[in-house]
Amino acid sequence: MNRNNPPLFFLYIFNLLLILSCSIENKSSFSSSFKIITDEGNSFSIDEPLGTLKLSAIDKINSKSVKGTWSVNDLSIAEINSKTGLLKAKRNGKVKVSLFVSPSSRMSKEIVISHQLIPIANNIVLHPHLNAVSMTIDRADLEAINKGEFDLRKLTHPIYNFFEDDFDFIFLISHNYGCPECPYAGRNTLVKNDIKGIGKPLYNSCKKFGSQGKLQSIIHITQSRGMTNGTALHELMHRWGNYVLPSYSFDSQGGQKRDYSHWGVSSANGVLGGFELNKKDTMTMNAFKANFSKNPYFSTNHNHTKYSPIELYLMGMIPKDEVPPLTVYSGIKCNPEVFKKTGLFSSDSTSTYTINDIIRRHGERIPSYHSSQKTFKALAVILSTTSNPIRKNEWAFYTEEISKFCASENNENHLNFYQATGKRAELTMGELDKSLRKAPEVSSR
Ligand SMILES: [Zn+2]
Repeated sequence: MNRNNPPLFFLYIFNLLLILSCSIENKSSFSSSFKIITDEGNSFSIDEPLGTLKLSAIDKINSKSVKGTWSVNDLSIAEINSKTGLLKAKRNGKVKVSLFVSPSSRMSKEIVISHQLIPIANNIVLHPHLNAVSMTIDRADLEAINKGEFDLRKLTHPIYNFFEDDFDFIFLISHNYGCPECPYAGRNTLVKNDIKGIGKPLYNSCKKFGSQGKLQSIIHITQSRGMTNGTALHELMHRWGNYVLPSYSFDSQGGQKRDYSHWGVSSANGVLGGFELNKKDTMTMNAFKANFSKNPYFSTNHNHTKYSPIELYLMGMIPKDEVPPLTVYSGIKCNPEVFKKTGLFSSDSTSTYTINDIIRRHGERIPSYHSSQKTFKALAVILSTTSNPIRKNEWAFYTEEISKFCASENNENHLNFYQATGKRAELTMGELDKSLRKAPEVSSR
């Protein structure tokens, strides 16, 4: 057989295929007597988490509505109401939606779906803007977490099944817009300490929590707005203090109680409490007035206060020479109502501690501020339940909360980490897809 002259049979088959393909083209052009439109300005994409798109069809000539049956080619990416044409996004990808009017009249359109939740595990999803994950847990477990009665290792181990050991901090944020039953607004569980001179022994419990050695602490925030309008700066500071200064605060009756991790009634004046010492406000020999106008009553619940010099020193952000002496009041008493309004209290004795006193007792900070860590990475985990899921608009809310808190620029209403450290340190919380141990089921963009 001559290879340059194919047999007539093959030429026949080739022509037949050509005719068939032309007839398919014709069928497609026949069906275009109507067109598919959307109520979103004819945008054929969905870019909101769990977003929807209303599809409809009109006749090209008289613009009359065309009815038919809607379908979608991949139900794992989106689903559509066969009668109304309402398309609901499920995950990122492209789908082809079709409207069947009659065997000779049908049409398809491609829809691009982006910025959807990315499933990581059965109960863990990565947020569309890649700066948080959400974990769905049992209602009883969330209640136990909110009361501080839950073994946090049960949450962190599943996270490390999917994420690299990239995080200095894990923020657990309860999906509550208020939590009256919570005994605290935030809480820091220390996982390791590798810094000398901050009053904590050196230890490392990372493996118990699933980290190979990087995780420094786990911070639980008991309500949704707690990152910007809550205790996030305060809880972060507990990584480093106060473990150097003996301090006292008031019990509910106004008597003295020892405070083991805050600054109490002292001049430390930071996010962990204390107040500004103003000698003019000393009333008599043992009556004093705390000036805490900028620092509401021993703790900053709303991220309004910058880290003070002693706090920045403990964090490794400034040298010891920049820390002024600290006055600690003891033998203290107050009328709680009067104290809250005016700052008046009495004290039998005051002690002054210089930074050298603190160093003599606890040693030099190692590493010093010259070589200390200045950039940190954190993972935000939103804890929700099946009975109280995160709704469509709430994904954007959390994205914004977290973006604001870790922004390396000034926020207007509440300080973020960068501002509170006087632009000395940064916290990153985004690009979580880069920390995944294996690629998610569907790429994010
Ligand atoms: Zn605290």
